[in-house]
Amino acid sequence: MQTSFTPEQLEDPHVAESEKILRRCVHCGFCTATCPTYVTLGNELDSPRGRIYLIKDMLENGRAADEEVVTHIDRCLSCLSCVSTCPSGVDYMHLVDHARVHIENTYKRPLIDRLIRSLLAAILPYPSRFRTALTLAKFGRPFAPLLKRVKSLKPLAAMLDLAPSSLPAPSAAVLRGAQPVRGIRRGRVAILSGCAQSVLDPGINQATTRLLARFGIEVVMPEGEGCCGALVHHMGREAEALDFARQNVDVWTREIERKGLDAIIITASGCGTTIKDYGHMLRLDPAYAEKAARVSGLAKDITEYLATLDLPRQEPKRLNVAYHSAVQCSTAKRSPWPLNYC
Ligand code: SF4
Ligand code: SF4
Repeated sequence: MQTSFTPEQLEDPHVAESEKILRRCVHCGFCTATCPTYVTLGNELDSPRGRIYLIKDMLENGRAADEEVVTHIDRCLSCLSCVSTCPSGVDYMHLVDHARVHIENTYKRPLIDRLIRSLLAAILPYPSRFRTALTLAKFGRPFAPLLKRVKSLKPLAAMLDLAPSSLPAPSAAVLRGAQPVRGIRRGRVAILSGCAQSVLDPGINQATTRLLARFGIEVVMPEGEGCCGALVHHMGREAEALDFARQNVDVWTREIERKGLDAIIITASGCGTTIKDYGHMLRLDPAYAEKAARVSGLAKDITEYLATLDLPRQEPKRLNVAYHSAVQCSTAKRSPWPLNYC
């Protein structure tokens, strides 16, 4: 794709990167066939190719985002299906990340949208606040049908509908410190406690920790790590996302330097994609670029890490099991970029 950015525009490293990405797109449209929003809505502007055109036009002309751009970029699920389909290796993920930051910096959303987004950014990444909000949600649930009648309040009604009626006990949420191993110690890993998952289903990390302990892997959950930053990153609130990334990089770097880590284990696929991208997100920060790249290099999905262990063969158990292939596992892993997640 031809571009016409000015030399002054290209002095901005974010614009320069987006220009390189845009130039790889050859408009072939292969990506449209695997984009869920295009397949569902049938509008070219809800396809990766359409969004790429919108982003190009906005950035090239140095324009503030308008309602049309915001509508179609907001509908993008960041599933990265287009990235794994694209024969030209268009790095759509980093292009849409840049577009979201541009939108956040140049577009004033309606008041109710701003309030809801600020509320989400202030609550979801913090487990204790999220737990309190979910506990309070049961008092708001009877009002959900009323909220649904007002178009701008529908997102609040949907959140109330989604809130679980009960939560696991807080004491079970986080196993801080190092967990003992069984038998000979074969390795040492950190596990991400993160934010929402630790409140909604702490059993996932507990089961992971038990499993790894059985294979002789010491699991540590150092004090101070938390949300990976994906939630605010996808809102375009880049300064907040980078703060979360720096915080985690600091905590894991301390652990790497203290006793060493073989991997940083992630059991939530979206968080894994973001942590694998810390090296890119912090590439322009001289104090963090190297440390962040090291952390990204150690980040592994639990399934990815288990595949590196020499696990004992089991007798077939003839069980019927369901497997949920999370979107980031089924698309980002085929990405030509260093995001291979699962
Ligand atoms: S498949 Fe790749 S090159 Fe083709 S239109 Fe989509 S992004 Fe552009
Ligand atoms: S990330 Fe997913 S939803 Fe967004 S443009 Fe690509 S395929 Fe479509």
